[in-house]
Parts: sequence; structure tokens; C-alpha cells
Amino acid sequence: MSNKRDYYEVLGVAKGASPEEIKKSYRQLARKYHPDVNKEPDAEDKFKEINEAYEILSDDQKRGMYDRFGHAGVGGAGGFGGFQDFGGFRDPFEIFEEVFGGLGGFSRSRRQRGGPRRGADLRYEMTLEFEEAVFGIEKEIEVPRQETCNTCNGNGVEPGTSPIRCPECNGTGEIRRQTGFFINIGTCPRCQGRGEIITSPCRECRGQGRIVKTRRLSVKVPAGVDNGTQIRLSGEGESGALGGPPGNLYVVIRVKPHEYFRRNEETIHLELGINITQAALGDEVEVPTLDGKEMMTIPAGTQTGDTIRLRGKGVPRLRRDGSNMGRGDQIVTLQVRTPTNLSKEQRHLLLELGKTLDREVIPQKEKSFFDRIRDALGM
Ligand SMILES: [Zn+2]
Ligand SMILES: [Zn+2]
Repeated sequence: MSNKRDYYEVLGVAKGASPEEIKKSYRQLARKYHPDVNKEPDAEDKFKEINEAYEILSDDQKRGMYDRFGHAGVGGAGGFGGFQDFGGFRDPFEIFEEVFGGLGGFSRSRRQRGGPRRGADLRYEMTLEFEEAVFGIEKEIEVPRQETCNTCNGNGVEPGTSPIRCPECNGTGEIRRQTGFFINIGTCPRCQGRGEIITSPCRECRGQGRIVKTRRLSVKVPAGVDNGTQIRLSGEGESGALGGPPGNLYVVIRVKPHEYFRRNEETIHLELGINITQAALGDEVEVPTLDGKEMMTIPAGTQTGDTIRLRGKGVPRLRRDGSNMGRGDQIVTLQVRTPTNLSKEQRHLLLELGKTLDREVIPQKEKSFFDRIRDALGM
């Protein structure tokens, strides 16, 4: 679905590149392809591509998402199957100015001061149950956001009236002040450079041109999201000013902990207590998984810390294009529990057993229980 180039390739850096390397490469490429200097027909597209790649790779969280899910994770074409149009990246010229701390010696021909402004991005925290994050879910959310006032179409003027020319600047929006030989040109303070003054502000929005409305949105959360995953809903942020495009809405995922499952990326961990005879003789037991109960064989001679892998019982993995690529595993770590509060009969049986066992104590050379747990968790 997506024929976008890999962001690392776009910036010509290695996958493990440091933030400094990424920034350095970005600065070189952005200067080279800035449409003000590069007159090749595809310079603007290249410039956009470079800025998009930098937007993602310069942000730890977005970079992490990109590394895991590819373009689908950060809003590239395709999206997580059926996701809202994800297309909107930031204005490339805005990023350029941010990095270069100004115009970087380039003109502002494309972005006029006081011209259309993009609306602000919004952030929404969505808390999910453990299973919802694993299997994905569609949720309705309510997002208050500023929208263009319908009564005045965003210009802040009461319908039927019109603004007057600013008497301070005579409609130019600028104020000239002469100090000695110099002429200073500043923005008119009375009209903020608009050249007009609204005498009858719109009653609906009190002249702001925008009003706060609560919108209901349906968010499709793909299977496999985790704490901190961001879902971008392009254009669902606040309305832009003066005809500018709207911002984006970022839904940030929080996942509630599970009673007994723990998750490490696509792997689910479960600790299971077993008794000494199950450990010594082996057993068939039912264990909880995300899909319900499963039969599992405990081999004879199991030690505390031994692990059993249940294949395909973990978290669904997402491929770069957002489609599914099988699931991770569940790892069950067994803990042998020493019996307490023995009945008279149990005590007798154990004493008989004890007579037959070796009573020598042996210092353990092997890995400790904690080492094995750490190994199992891949820590
Ligand atoms: Zn209004
Ligand atoms: Zn004025």
C-alpha cells in the first residue's frame, strides 16, 4: 500500500544513528533542497520528504513508533487498516525554521506573516484495559476543541455589519515612526496588523472567530498498542486561523496493568505456582492465557524458575504496513511452592520420602533463580 521511502534512507543515516547525526544530515539536505535555492522540479517534494523524515526521527517517541510499526505507526500512507486519513505532517517550512532558528538565510516567500495559520495539535489520553491494548478496540471519545464559528465564518464580525478601516494606521497595518534619520516600521498595535477594526463583534464567539465545541470521535485502536503509543488523527485538532489547515489530534495510549499477566513488547509473562509433587512428577495443568484457558504440560523434575513457552499466545505483531504478522508467545515461569500447614498424614508421607532422599546440601554453581527470571524476560 505504501511506497514511501524509508526515513533513514531519506536522511542517509544508519538505523542506529544518534540524534546529532540525524540533525546534521537533515541540516545539509534541507539546505540543499530548499525550494528557494534548488530549482529542480522535484526539489519541493524532496524538501517535504526530508522534513517529514526529520519530524519523525528527531522525536524519540515517534522514532520508536516508526521503528516498530513503520510508516503505519506514524501516520504514513496506509495507516493502521481503516484508520482515519493520517496524511498530515507538519509544515516543512515550519520545521526548517525551527531547526535553523529562523529563516536560515531563506526568504519567507511561501509563508506570509499574518497569513493562514495551522490549528494547534491536541492531545488526548486514552486509558485501555490490558486486553484492549493487546487485541485492539474501537472507542468513542469526546474531545473539546476550538472550531471555526459558523455564525461569522471565523472572521469574528457580527453578520450584517462590516469592520471599519483602522484609523491608527489607515488600513496599512503598519505604523512608521521616525527617530532621527531612521524610520521604524512596526505592526499597528490597534488592529494587530490587520488594517481593520471590528466594531460589532460576532455575538456567538464574542469576536474570537472560534468557539469551543465537544466532538465525538471514533478511534480505532490497532491490536498490539502499548503504553505511550500515539495515534495521530490528522485534521482532528483545532481549526486553523484565517483559512489555515486544522491541527492534528494525538491519542496517547495508557494501558492498565493486568492482575497476573505482564507484558514485554509482544511477549506475555505469567508466573505459575506449582506444588512439589507436580514439580517432581510432572503434571497436566490449565493455565490462563489471553485467549482463555490452555492445557500445559509440566515436565517431571521441574525447578523453580524453569520456563515453558506457549507459542502464539502473546501480543499480535504489526507489520510495517499495519497488517498482522502473527503473535508473540506467552512465557510461563514456574515457581515450586513449599507446602506449609501440613496435615499429620502429609507430614508422615514427607518424612518417609525424606528418609530416601540425599540429605547433603550442595552449593549451587548454576544460575540463580533471579538470573533465570532475568533470562526469561530478556532483561
Ligand atoms: Zn462568530
Ligand atoms: Zn491599524
